[in-house]
Amino acid sequence: MLPCAPSSAMPLTHRVTTGIPFRAHAIIPLALFEAVRALDLPTDDGLEEFHDELVVKRLGMNRTVVAQIQRYGGLARADKRVDGEEVTALLRLVGRRADAGLVYAEAGRRAARLAAARVPGTLRLLRHLLPPGFGRFLARRAAADVFGVVLRRDGATLAASMDDSIAVRATPGGAACGFFGSAVAELLRIFTPFDGALLHDTCRGRGDGACHWRAGPPEEE
Ligand SMILES: [Zn+2]
Repeated sequence: MLPCAPSSAMPLTHRVTTGIPFRAHAIIPLALFEAVRALDLPTDDGLEEFHDELVVKRLGMNRTVVAQIQRYGGLARADKRVDGEEVTALLRLVGRRADAGLVYAEAGRRAARLAAARVPGTLRLLRHLLPPGFGRFLARRAAADVFGVVLRRDGATLAASMDDSIAVRATPGGAACGFFGSAVAELLRIFTPFDGALLHDTCRGRGDGACHWRAGPPEEE
């Protein structure tokens, strides 16, 4: 059952869990475009001439990508949000690539580092002096502000959830959830002693009620 199944007739009335209109932080598209560019850069294997034609066809070398990185970079630095539909379309476009999982994972890490950089330097330093709860607070705030993900303690471990997933809107099977899982795991690595993996144990894309992640040890699959 999909009680909130989006329809194309209601592009901007859609709401995320925080209750704000459907806007997404510019960090998300910026990180996606940066990851695409990084993954599509040709390797220095002496075959540039041969690659030329191939390379220009690849998304990462496209002038549009460069222009979008400039545009979203400016918006991200100004801490702006953009139309959520734009970001949904981009997540969907990335999902068509053969290496989509790689792009989502890389973009998630980049986005988390950009989100962490929004936190004032003094607070980032303070987390080394204050109890671990302060680092968790910073991670929780960044996860909510930038990714619309709710982070909370779950007994001795941590859990993350998205009730209303932009990822599942973009890729109905939930592939784009990989972006958000990667981002939140990296935020936890940045702000807390967390060094494990986030397991996507329930997903709206698999018919569950919400997208949910729980922390697991590194060796757990
Ligand atoms: Zn999911």
